[in-house]
Amino acid sequence: MSKKPSDPAKWRPATLAIHGLGRLPKAHHAVSTPIVHTSNYYFDTADEVEEFMRAKGQGRVTHEHEYARYGNPTQQETERKLAAVEGAERAVLYSSGMAAVLMTIMTFMKPEGHIIFTGDCYRQTRDFATNFLGKFGIGYSITDPTAEAIEEAIRPNTNIIFTESPTNPYLRVLDIPAIVKVAKKRGIMTIIDATLATPYNIKPIELGVDVVVHSATKYFGGHNDLMAGVALGSAALMADLYKMQRMMGATPGPLTCFLLERGLKTFGMRMEHHNRAGLAVARMLEAHPKVEKVWYPALASHPDHKTGMAQMKGFGSVISFLVKGGNAETRRFIDSLDLFLITPSLGGSESLVTQMWAMSFFDYPEEFRKSIGMVDNLVRLALGLEDVDDLIADLEQALDRI
Ligand SMILES: *Cc1c(COP(=O)(O)O)cnc(C)c1O
Repeated sequence: MSKKPSDPAKWRPATLAIHGLGRLPKAHHAVSTPIVHTSNYYFDTADEVEEFMRAKGQGRVTHEHEYARYGNPTQQETERKLAAVEGAERAVLYSSGMAAVLMTIMTFMKPEGHIIFTGDCYRQTRDFATNFLGKFGIGYSITDPTAEAIEEAIRPNTNIIFTESPTNPYLRVLDIPAIVKVAKKRGIMTIIDATLATPYNIKPIELGVDVVVHSATKYFGGHNDLMAGVALGSAALMADLYKMQRMMGATPGPLTCFLLERGLKTFGMRMEHHNRAGLAVARMLEAHPKVEKVWYPALASHPDHKTGMAQMKGFGSVISFLVKGGNAETRRFIDSLDLFLITPSLGGSESLVTQMWAMSFFDYPEEFRKSIGMVDNLVRLALGLEDVDDLIADLEQALDRI
């Protein structure tokens, strides 16, 4: 570290996202991190190769980079900042959120083991459990997103509890300390997908969770223009993940890492906006006569209002609600919006809207789809960075068209 700050542990997320835990020497004294577009890094002499390999075996570093699948300088800097923001010892970046989720599960799953997932989870995570875990001889349960349901689902061979909080689209907030307590008593590892929360709103590692994963495509990137994922935790657990990463190769490219690091510079301001906008829109929707029901944890009507208010600083800008009416009314509302783009994802600069069942669960049998809450009139909003008053006016004029 070229300059040692006196007490970076006191810095808040917005500051950590820009500086990490302090300043490292940078090529040419550039303020931003260079994009090093190369697939490999050369050695000066044949002897240097031997010295490098010997040092690596002893855990020392003589030559920082060797091959781009193993990492690049922009990635390293971005990982350092993400770890600082999350309060983790180390971060491992991936080329997508799903790569982070799956690599984490695959690194820590055990033969004949059993994994508990919480319901209302990301669709691809659910599909990995239902379609692929069996191939490895691994069992799974998908439970209600509560600590009690998780405890009931534990079997003697359960070795991972994989949760999401808040969930999507119903924004269920899990009682993380309660789940950690249940898991620790039995030596079960806890992994949480905290994409919808971000460390701006909750830091699961401080609450005892072993590994946090995020889709960095969402709030960390923040501009709807990149794909990345990250896993964070202790240096020991991340070393296991990194070994898998080197083999599997879901490594983000240098340009993606640059865009992600750039996005992080406005992380704090953006999250503050997302929290404020989410709350304002949720309140407006709840009071609107054309809206049947709203899910946003800051509202007293949300099932996890108490847990959410106790654990989280804010709830971001994903809001789910039921339009009064059926498929036709819901589509008329969506098609009348001027500012919301019809597309999945969240956490970026542009506001997005989805009719959940059609966008994400179309190919599920109707009965099953409805049993997991994907009803015809369910709409999910992911607010962007536009002026909140403009978003509210747009939603109001579209609701008036129903
Ligand atoms: C988007 C998302 C993912 C997947 O991330 P990608 O970057 O799209 O691969 C996983 N979990 C949650 C909660 C998400 O919102």
